[in-house]
Amino acid sequence: MALFRPKQILNIFTDLDMAYYREKGFDTILLDVDNTIAVPNTGGCDERAAKFIQKLKEHGYRVVIFSNNNEKRVKMFIGDIDVDYWYLALKPLPFSYLAVCKKMKTSPKRTLVLGDQLITDILGANLSGCYGIYCKQLQEKDSKMTAFNRRFEKMIWRYVLHEEV
Ligand SMILES: [Mg+2]
Repeated sequence: MALFRPKQILNIFTDLDMAYYREKGFDTILLDVDNTIAVPNTGGCDERAAKFIQKLKEHGYRVVIFSNNNEKRVKMFIGDIDVDYWYLALKPLPFSYLAVCKKMKTSPKRTLVLGDQLITDILGANLSGCYGIYCKQLQEKDSKMTAFNRRFEKMIWRYVLHEEV
């Protein structure tokens, strides 16, 4: 069950210590969108998220918006921000993680994954050999599918990881 365990837990994405992980050798970061860096399904890239992406680039990270949502949603989030993206990622399956790493000319060992769901973002990170960092959800409201996942998440936190988040 260690596959569900994130390597780090953040209260919010902006708490990420970019310099620390760059020094550790990480050069790429995959960012989940809904409820990680944007309000689920409707949120665009607000100033806080845009600054975060910009700062990541300044630290030398290759940044990829990495979502299970569809092209329309991902493009709506991105707007006119200049950033790589990958939609319909089918997280937690490892294939997209590995394909993105290849596209970015890096390896999973040098790739961070930021996400708000254990059973998609973090499980996939662990299955593919990436470094999964859990961000607490931005807001309580989720899509129906995510709300369904969330109930399992609560059980995983409590009974498998023995933590309350
Ligand atoms: Mg999410």
